[in-house]
Amino acid sequence: MKNMDKIREAARDPLGYAQSYKARTRKKVVGYFCSYGPEEIIGAAGALPLRIFSGKPGIHLADRHLQSYCCSLVRGVLEDALAGTLKFLDGVVFPHTCDSIQRLSDIWRLNVSYGFHTDVVLPVKLNTESARAYMVDVLKAFRVDLEKKLDIRITDDALRASMDLYSNLRSMLGQIYEIRSQNPDAVSGSDVYHIMKAAMIMDRQELLALLNEAVPELKQGKSAEAAVCRKRVILSGGICDFPDVYPMIEEEGGAVVWDDLCMGTRTFAGDFAAKEDPIEAIAGRYLDRIICPAKHNGLTNRADYLVRMARERDARGVIILLLKFCDPHAFDYPYLKNALDKEGIPNLLIEVEDQLPPDGQLRTRFDAFLEML
Ligand code: SF4
Ligand code: SF4
Repeated sequence: MKNMDKIREAARDPLGYAQSYKARTRKKVVGYFCSYGPEEIIGAAGALPLRIFSGKPGIHLADRHLQSYCCSLVRGVLEDALAGTLKFLDGVVFPHTCDSIQRLSDIWRLNVSYGFHTDVVLPVKLNTESARAYMVDVLKAFRVDLEKKLDIRITDDALRASMDLYSNLRSMLGQIYEIRSQNPDAVSGSDVYHIMKAAMIMDRQELLALLNEAVPELKQGKSAEAAVCRKRVILSGGICDFPDVYPMIEEEGGAVVWDDLCMGTRTFAGDFAAKEDPIEAIAGRYLDRIICPAKHNGLTNRADYLVRMARERDARGVIILLLKFCDPHAFDYPYLKNALDKEGIPNLLIEVEDQLPPDGQLRTRFDAFLEML
């Protein structure tokens, strides 16, 4: 796909990209965790919202604060923070979602001396009227908080401009997913992975411009006949920072045609609510978007979504990637599996750490699963 070099480079080295962006533009860079991080508000403040990923080094410093049975994402990020690798950040925003991120926030506040630290204490249960009102209040408070921390006024116009940018970018990401869903050979899983990661790292305007150039070409090629008859699967889980998964599935004759990932559909799904007030519009999207297991929106919301996606996307199976010690996803797994089994949708659980299991082992499991479909 056109323009992938820049996108891949940013996705491979998010901190390098952010530091050179800061030096080049003199703009602020604000780190955030999780797809509930209010990027549009950070963008409206003129700062680059940078999703923090674990640098995946050996973990030593973080072990003083976190048990080894915390997920490797949180431990890795804390390691980077304590080692000073994130010192260039102007601040970090912690949306309250899973317990691990909430505890990371406390540890960060007490132990990381650089940049500002702020919490956005979002509601857990999203399907009530009081949650709606509360979500709006929390985001309004965050706007004021960010204004103070960055010493800038965030106007309604700036918020609307930022929302427009995000709407356009998300629509473009959705179009790429649609193209791949129709013909998985039109764009590789690896390209999609790098684009999704870059959408949390790069200057969103810069990324949108690159995609605006590349996607029309993709659309022209999408009707070209599929090169191989692939076994279509859906990938489900939390963060999926594993570029090797996609080519491995493809080399074994499959293709990820849709996903339920924080680095996938949860990033671009959902529209802003039709509200005059920009903060209410942003809040509406968080309330109505596909949820992750750290939020509640009905007892069977996620299972319903997975089953529906498997049907709509004509997928033959679902692969669930579970990051070791990720409690919210682990707690959701039995009921997701039951729902998929009940509907006769084959599914495979793969437990991963910050590194994937050995290549051969993983290939054998993908191969056996795809063979069965
Ligand atoms: S699973 Fe939920 S809480 Fe965890 S990173 Fe994704 S969106 Fe955030
Ligand atoms: S949702 Fe899971 S993987 Fe993500 S930070 Fe929380 S515990 Fe870790």
